[in-house]
Amino acid sequence: MKKITFFIIVICLLCGCEKENKVESYISMNEELVSINYPVTNINVLDDAVSSYVNQTYYNFKNMDSPVIPELNISYTYKEVNEDIINVSLMTEIVTDKTINKIKTFTYNKSNNKFLTMEDLVDDLAGLDYEIKKELLEKYQDADMDYLSNVSYDYFTIDDENLTLYFNPAEIKSKHDELIYIDVPLDSLKMLVDIDINEGKDTYLSIKKKNVSIDDKVVALTFDDGPSKYTDQILDILKKYNACGTFFLIGNKVEFYSDTLRRMLEEGSEIGNHSYDHKLLTRLSKEAFQEEINKTQMAIKKVTGFTPTLFRPTYGGYNNTLKSYTDLKFVLWDVDSRDWQVKSKEKILKNVLPNVKSGSIVLMHDNHEYSVNALEDMIESLKKQGYKFVTVTELLELKNLRESE
Ligand code: ZN
Repeated sequence: MKKITFFIIVICLLCGCEKENKVESYISMNEELVSINYPVTNINVLDDAVSSYVNQTYYNFKNMDSPVIPELNISYTYKEVNEDIINVSLMTEIVTDKTINKIKTFTYNKSNNKFLTMEDLVDDLAGLDYEIKKELLEKYQDADMDYLSNVSYDYFTIDDENLTLYFNPAEIKSKHDELIYIDVPLDSLKMLVDIDINEGKDTYLSIKKKNVSIDDKVVALTFDDGPSKYTDQILDILKKYNACGTFFLIGNKVEFYSDTLRRMLEEGSEIGNHSYDHKLLTRLSKEAFQEEINKTQMAIKKVTGFTPTLFRPTYGGYNNTLKSYTDLKFVLWDVDSRDWQVKSKEKILKNVLPNVKSGSIVLMHDNHEYSVNALEDMIESLKKQGYKFVTVTELLELKNLRESE
């Protein structure tokens, strides 16, 4: 037994065994629309619990009947409550002819490898129980009193301000189809654990200006659905060729890739907004759409100090009403690599290279390896044809300059 332990330690030392959090992300738009994002913590017990819940949810979704294109969105929140305790929540939204919202939370204590309950975290749960039920009845007036006595506190998240408790609508017999929740300010509670409050970094990074003249042939490479574990490889290639890209990021993944985001801006690329959870936006209310945008703006600003001005709609789906709900500029593309679909370097190059002209915006994705594999040849070929690489904002500025001439 000792030998095995020793061997494992040696391997860990040799490979560095970085304990870095990342996000697992699956986005697809074949016969259904799917956006699944969840954190990978490198704590096996926690990761197994999270991924098996996700797999089960996806399996159930695949087996549902739906009269419309079904949509599955799994998003998450992640909070290091303190040095030992991690709180992960998974929010599931299933849209068919009706919308179902569910939540599942995991609170894990690294120091004893156990999942924690509310009893482990909050002193005087009975007092809290009284306040919560009072508030539930005020906020959700159709809730049934008799059912409230059986309410459990299985699902909760913690952020810098609140402990938030979630309830399934069926649990309190409410007809609401949205998640039912109550925020409890942390400073009103006696917690049994210390909570770390993370202050956001505020280091403004500006987009570098490139040496591009008004007559140059220019192209903007754009990457959707990141950041991901592949994004740094994309940045390495862009740097090698002194090129740049515009990255339309999914807000919920941003906090785990803060170094990557800062690298983007430092190395002359641009960051745009691609919503927070990658839902189909045309199905959202004005408020829900604006929340998708604003949460992403805040997440990016918190990490980089930079506030995006560009927006790319998910699945390319938008209309004029959506556009009127935000000041951000909607950016589409004229060259589609279809990288997520063709999954081959040769096919990606064939979809892109013959179709690029000066002023083109090329659509790729940085959440899988296909674009990474094709990028180097793509840039070399475009460089040979005399193209210079610019961000979308620079491309639009150049276009304005040309039109005003
Ligand atoms: Zn997308």
